[in-house]
Amino acid sequence: MDMELKENLSRVEENICRACARAGRERKEVTLIAVSKTKPPAMLEQIYKLGIREFGENKVQELCDKHCILNQDIHWHMIGHLQRNKVRQVIDKTCLVHSLDSLRLASQLNEEAERAGIKISVLVEINMAKEASKFGVLEEEAEQFIRAVAEYPHILIKGLMTIAPFVENPEDNRIHFQNLRNLCVDINRKNIDNVCMHILSMGMTNDYEVAIEEGATMIRVGTGIFGERNYR
Ligand SMILES: *Cc1c(COP(=O)(O)O)cnc(C)c1O
Repeated sequence: MDMELKENLSRVEENICRACARAGRERKEVTLIAVSKTKPPAMLEQIYKLGIREFGENKVQELCDKHCILNQDIHWHMIGHLQRNKVRQVIDKTCLVHSLDSLRLASQLNEEAERAGIKISVLVEINMAKEASKFGVLEEEAEQFIRAVAEYPHILIKGLMTIAPFVENPEDNRIHFQNLRNLCVDINRKNIDNVCMHILSMGMTNDYEVAIEEGATMIRVGTGIFGERNYR
């Protein structure tokens, strides 16, 4: 067992517990997704042995490769931008697509889910800070977008996701997490047919504690568990 991985995971776990305590929430309300992109399967196996079953990947090929070789009881979260021509490959391998950001993608997901005889669970990605460099639906377009996606019979909308800006001080992202939660509450109040959202996927290594305080139900932690990524 790699002691560094073990210590990293314990530290993250401790931080989650403390953030839950500060917010008066229970630990079981928050799902930790270990973001394993670029990391070798052997490293994922170590984390698996420590009890983690939720893994996040941002590339279809990598998700499919790891899905094939690692334990079948792992839940694979597709957290990265998804291209329509890759949907067929990943449709039956992911438990949740966090990154629905266009109606064209929704249409493709619906079609491939129907073909596979399943319903695909999705989160709608919201670009809360209106960053030009990021994917996602704008907050003010979210309701209309969700009403349109709700028409697809093979898609289950489970909640919202955001990738907050990279900031030095995680407190700077608190407003975006608050706003995402408020948006979720607002949309649920509209009682749109087929839409009852309960997942808020927000918070990464740098800011997951603030996200938990603001109501995150899924946090996506890569570096904090696996260490820095090397893209070379
Ligand atoms: C890489 C990635 C993460 C994890 O980022 P860290 O800062 O390493 O925790 C979370 N969410 C998405 C969408 C990512 O692409």
